[in-house]
Amino acid sequence: MTTIGFIGLGNMGAPMAGNLVKKGFTVRGFDLVPANLEAGVTRGVIAAKSSADAVATADVVVTMLPAGRHVLSVYGDTLKAAKLGTLFIDSSTIDVASARTAHEQASSHKMLSLDAPVSGGVGGAEAATLTFMAGGTDAAFAKAKPVIEAMAKKIVHCGAAGSGQAAKICNNMILGISMIAVAEGFALAEKLGLDKQALFDVASTSSGQCWAMTSYCPVPGPVPASPANNGYKPGFASALMLKDLSLAQEAAQTAGASTPLGALAAQLYRMHSGAGGADADFSSIITMIRGSKD
Ligand code: NAD
Repeated sequence: MTTIGFIGLGNMGAPMAGNLVKKGFTVRGFDLVPANLEAGVTRGVIAAKSSADAVATADVVVTMLPAGRHVLSVYGDTLKAAKLGTLFIDSSTIDVASARTAHEQASSHKMLSLDAPVSGGVGGAEAATLTFMAGGTDAAFAKAKPVIEAMAKKIVHCGAAGSGQAAKICNNMILGISMIAVAEGFALAEKLGLDKQALFDVASTSSGQCWAMTSYCPVPGPVPASPANNGYKPGFASALMLKDLSLAQEAAQTAGASTPLGALAAQLYRMHSGAGGADADFSSIITMIRGSKD
């Protein structure tokens, strides 16, 4: 049976590693924070002494880390410790440039590699219903598929190295912009005396329809399961939306792409996060747009 080395057992990594254990994989994990390593162990992960120790006997390595610098640092420690031909899957959300560097480093050590960021949040990580967006060679994708399937509802091979990260930040830039648009629509309706349910009934079945409205409606009532009904408890925190919008801006600048609304969305989420909204669901941006907390 395939042995997995899993590095980064935080909010996402621990339940993802736990799902690999449930599907019968042997998982050797490592995290710098002892309590997070322990969270993995309670899900059946075997505790390694270091990231190099976690990958030494692995056929496949999965990393789930905060940012590009963490991934490149872990690759520096692990690429020389793993068996030749090991597959490295990075599921962290990181900048496209670091993702491509990670692929180059893996290739120069004669390893296979895939960037495979996810959407679906902690709930999707627990339920093994994440969407994976993968970038890399066909050979790497084919080897990764049975492993990813243990954690996923949907897997899309988006193209060559870095394409998974590119898909993730383009999607989340669309989401950030559309949430602000929905919030502005509902805030304007309030000022015009238009009932929120009436606006929802029209817009959710008309040309204004979008996922931000129908799944994460930023006002309580029309979508009972949306975080607005639960004090804006995330869901998907504004700080994570700001991270993804900032990565999109970094990529746009490097690629010379024009993303004026993406830039504005990043600026608005930076203001909202700085004003105390960082840990609230990203739909709470409506409270800043309205200028009130109710
Ligand atoms: P987290 O901070 O809970 O987990 C990251 C873990 O990496 C931590 O436990 C940390 O101790 C560990 N770590 C950092 N450097 C390390 C190193 N050198 N060696 C070993 N362990 C190290 O973050 P998270 O919420 O699990 O998110 C992980 C990644 O997934 C991020 O890139 C995030 O943007 C992305 N993501 C998160 C969500 C979400 O809803 N939380 C959704 C989609 C994508």
